[in-house]
Order: sequence, then structure tokens, then C-alpha cells
Amino acid sequence: MDIEEFRKRGYEAVDRICKYYKELDNHNVLPNVRPGYLKELLPKEAPEEPESFDAIQLDIETKIIPGVTHWQSPNFFAFYPANSSFPGILGDMYSDMFGCVGFNWITSPVCTELETIVLDWVGKLIGLDKTFLSDGYGGGVIQGTASEATLVALIAARQRVIDKYKAEGLTEEQLYEISNRLIAYGSTQTHSCLKKATMIANVRFRALSTDEKFSLRGNTIKCEIEKDISQGLIPCFLNGTIGTTSSAAVDHISELADAIQGTDVWLHIDAAYAGSALVCPEYQHYLDGVDRADSFNFNMHKWLLTNFDTSCLWVKRRKLLISALTITPEFLKNPASESGLVLDYRDWQLPLGRRFRSLKIWFVLRTYGAKGLREHIRKVYSQYIITYLK
Ligand code: PLP
Repeated sequence: MDIEEFRKRGYEAVDRICKYYKELDNHNVLPNVRPGYLKELLPKEAPEEPESFDAIQLDIETKIIPGVTHWQSPNFFAFYPANSSFPGILGDMYSDMFGCVGFNWITSPVCTELETIVLDWVGKLIGLDKTFLSDGYGGGVIQGTASEATLVALIAARQRVIDKYKAEGLTEEQLYEISNRLIAYGSTQTHSCLKKATMIANVRFRALSTDEKFSLRGNTIKCEIEKDISQGLIPCFLNGTIGTTSSAAVDHISELADAIQGTDVWLHIDAAYAGSALVCPEYQHYLDGVDRADSFNFNMHKWLLTNFDTSCLWVKRRKLLISALTITPEFLKNPASESGLVLDYRDWQLPLGRRFRSLKIWFVLRTYGAKGLREHIRKVYSQYIITYLK
């Protein structure tokens, strides 16, 4: 495909996307297909000979769209809203234009720098304490999902405890024994991604009971930590949720912060689901106590008009995340990284490679403005918030 054909096909694709959105209301949200339907429609092997783009486009209509669940439909009420928007789509198109893989600053300086800037913007917009912003010891990073955000926070928490014992001169064998005694806590309402993270990180996990409003209380965690310490376990991580998946319940974050004071427990706040509402000052009181947390995460790709995958994670002390996740083989070394003047986001996440995702956030923030995003939340989600969050 040369540039001129790309131009033609690109215009056609944008026209098709517009038609899709114009007619979205007419689609049944759930496709009417049987398991394995696609295998019957597609060849058994990848094509040996090149095919015409007309044939490929035709298959979008006849084979792909029939199997789509229409998440962007106004009639979609399953799971959670995953709002995409036209500025978000355009942001992704520009990201695809560059096709850069921004794992180190030098691999595309703008990819890193725009991400740092927009996450500071978003952090300020949702009323996050300034200690989470990049001009201090903290900073934000875009993860693909809240599950990855939780996992990297847990890994940093685990490393912080192990490093403490290492500094006391424990041997490798003793450190291994310590790591087997680590325990993380959530509530019975915490998203299953925490349990999964503990399975991956090989940390014990306990789900604690909540009050009648499905909120985790400080006393519950305090008693549990004391009991576990007396039995030789090492508490290292506590997940507080602002907006649980089942009922949008909010844990008492201030109480949780009080309960772990003076311990080595890392407080992570999962606001993946409902955190977008925090762009409205009238909901920012839910952040009470978050200034004492170690990390905070919410999914812009849920209510905030930004296409999947934009899960925003902020940490209070980026050094802890970086020291837990840095590994620098020879081929990743470069003068910019060694200067200490730049961030390398590969050290803040699981994979090495990363897309230029901040572009879509930047497009969304600029196209709607803070005012437009607040209006969106108030208009589209107000009934939901009144019912659940208040
Ligand atoms: N935490 C909460 C509160 C959620 O509601 C969800 C998903 O709905 C998640 C975590 C997991 O999100 P992700 O799919 O981004 O991993």
C-alpha cells in the first residue's frame, strides 16, 4: 500500500467509522453468533498471495461486525462504560502515525515528556495531592489497565519491605523467608485484580469484611494487621477503593491511613471505576486521606471519553517504583538515561515497549476542556452518582 492508496483507504475508513457511529443505535448490543462462528468463515491459513483491500474491507462488514459487542452503543449497560470519543480516536491515529515505542526517553522524548505533563494536568484536575505530581518526588504513568497498576504498586511495596530487611544485613536465604511471610489486604468488595496481583507477586492475600455500606473501616484492618504480625506475617500492602465495582462503595481512606501509620504497609487507592467523577470538585471530598496513600489509580478509559487503554497511576515516591522495576541490560543504556535528567517509563511498568498513549489524553483534555469533562460527568453520570456514590 503506497501513500496514495493509504490516503484513499484512510478516507474510506474514516467515512466508515462515521457511518458506524451514526448507525450505532440500530445495532443490537450483543451479536447473534455462536462460539466458533469465525473459524467457519475464515481460511485455515494466512493468505499466501496479497489480497485486495476491497476484499479486506468487505470482510469487516460481513465477518467482523457481526461478531462485535457494541460497547460504544448508548444501549450498552454491561460491566462499565468504556467511553471512547472522536478526539480520543484521532489521538490514537496520530500515535499510529509515529509508531514509536517510547520505553526510554531517548526512544522518543516527546512520548515521555507529554505523558508526564498530561498526568500532572489530570492529577491536578481530579484534586490529587501535589505530592503525587512530577515536580516533587512523585509522578504519573499510563498503564494499560488498573490490573497492571495494582500489580506494579504491589511489586514496589514488596520491594520496599525486602530492601528494609536487606539494609539490616539479612542473607539471601533470610530474605527469601521474609518474602514468604508478606501479606496484602483488600476487602470482600475489592476488585479481583488485587487477588490476581498477589498470585503473580507471590504475596499472601486476605479479603476483609466491610461495614453495611460495603466500605472497609480502619478498625478492621488495624485488628487484622496486629493479629497477623503477632503470628509472624509481614503486612506490606493495603488496597482502598474509591468506587467498588459491585456497588461503587467508597472505603474510609482516612481511617485506613490512620490504621497503617507507623507500619511498612503501602496504601494503594483503586479508583479505576468511579475515579473520573473526581474531575468535579463536588466529589473530591472522596479523596480525603488519599494524600497519605502511596499510590492512586483510575481508568480514564471508563467514564472520561478516552479510548481504552489509559489507566492512570500516580505514585508518591517514584524512586520506589523505579528501583523495584529497573533492569538495564547493555542495549538499553544511553547517555540521556545515565544523566539522571530524564524519566524512562520502562522502569514504571511491566513491559519494555509502550505506545504513545498520552496523545489521546492530550487531545481529549484540550478538545473538551476541564469544563466539558465536568459537564460530561454531571450530565451522563449524575443519576448514577446520586444513586450510588452519595
Ligand atoms: N478496579 C476496579 C474498581 C474496577 O472496577 C476494575 C474494572 O472494572 C478494575 C479494577 C480492573 O480494571 P482493568 O480492566 O483496567 O484491569
